[in-house]
Amino acid sequence: LKRNPTQPEFQQAVREVIESLETLLLSRTDYQDAAILERIIEPERQIMFRVAWQDDSNKVRVNRGYRIQFNSTLGPYKGGLRFHPSVTLSVIKFLGFEQIFKNALTGQSIGGGKGGSDFDPHGKSDNEVMRFCQAFMMELSRHVGADVDVPAGDIGVGAREIGYLFGQYKRLANRNEAGVITGKGVGWGGSRGRTEATGYGLVMFANSMLAELGESVEGKTAVVSGSGNVATYAIEKLHQLGGKAVSISDSSGAVYDPDGIDVALLKEIKEVRRGRVSEYAELRPNAKFQAGQKVWGIPADLALPCATQNEVHANDVRTMRANGVQLIAEGANMPLTPGAIETAQHSKILYAPGKAANAGGVATSALEMQQNASLQSWPFAVVEEKLEAIMTDIHATCLATAADLDEPGNYLVGANAAGFMKVADAMIEQGIV
Ligand code: NDP
Repeated sequence: LKRNPTQPEFQQAVREVIESLETLLLSRTDYQDAAILERIIEPERQIMFRVAWQDDSNKVRVNRGYRIQFNSTLGPYKGGLRFHPSVTLSVIKFLGFEQIFKNALTGQSIGGGKGGSDFDPHGKSDNEVMRFCQAFMMELSRHVGADVDVPAGDIGVGAREIGYLFGQYKRLANRNEAGVITGKGVGWGGSRGRTEATGYGLVMFANSMLAELGESVEGKTAVVSGSGNVATYAIEKLHQLGGKAVSISDSSGAVYDPDGIDVALLKEIKEVRRGRVSEYAELRPNAKFQAGQKVWGIPADLALPCATQNEVHANDVRTMRANGVQLIAEGANMPLTPGAIETAQHSKILYAPGKAANAGGVATSALEMQQNASLQSWPFAVVEEKLEAIMTDIHATCLATAADLDEPGNYLVGANAAGFMKVADAMIEQGIV
């Protein structure tokens, strides 16, 4: 960690893994002899590059691009691209590091990577976004490929951006290599169900956790943060299963809708108009928008943070506990601070880390890669069934691994240990590289 003194998010993600695996790491001399920990926290390759593009008034703008190829032990590097002004090397490294273990948990042959830029798509025209994506891919194209590194979406990178990125890659590579990127449109190599996968998978995972108590999400109320891809489809699946989500948020504030979030209206505002959650509140009779507020003060049974890292603090968890929240499942990556995780675990709130609970997105990206490689296009129901089987399997793996390590019911230890051991054992078999 001394090598990366100015990378707080990366340090946070590494500390969480090391602390939760202390017993395992001390007991495994084979991991110590092979310097697994030292190797696994050092990315195999880090690429940083200038992205110069022209805005609609012909002004030249400069952003920074990143691709961290963290670990290829289990397969090609795989992980999303994030376009957001808060992106730094530290943010991309924390995401890439977590991706290694998440991808291992899916049971598919994919390594870990992540990328992005400090470019902010908010307020940009479609043409500006296209020019930025084309400039970004000018450099990224040298480093990716269907069996090398396969990017996908994340914050600020949705269907529109994936389309522009793929179009530019095709032009540069002079071949239609569908498997080079996932999250593509269904008409040109994308998988049905990929858009829904992370949010749907999150609720499937929460349902499995509740099933351990003889309960389900049916009849439960949930607070959800964010209003993007993950939040929207978590709410949709929750409603399909008889639950009710009563909140959404964005970086300008929070909406409480006691009647339950209207998913069709949310999609219209976010996916079609590219608007804000305040516009949603204006169109719903009993919904209230509170500028600058978070959603965690709203009473609920379940909490699903689906916006960004470190959005839930220890105080928020105390408020949730007082309001009766029984389960927190992370749709976003690292949304709980270390203090929030500790408070949740001490309060006996069921807690699922994003590595396990939001793995449905990347798992379905791997299903997209399988379809591309075999020139197939599976029906929605087939993809959803496979997603459900994968989420059920990840849930069972987390519980079994936690029990083996004498930490019954500890999903954090279970997810970190199961993902870590799968990669570590393969690293030993592949020698010192
Ligand atoms: P989107 O860009 O679709 O939506 C992001 C949402 O979070 C928006 O509502 C956005 O509001 C809000 N948000 C982002 N940054 C901040 C911030 N700093 N403060 C407050 N609100 C913020 O992204 P996704 O839904 O795809 O991603 C959400 C989370 O889920 C991320 O942590 C991502 O890494 C994780 N994830 C996503 C997967 C996927 O398949 N898409 C897979 C696994 C994890 P605003 O518009 O105001 O910025």
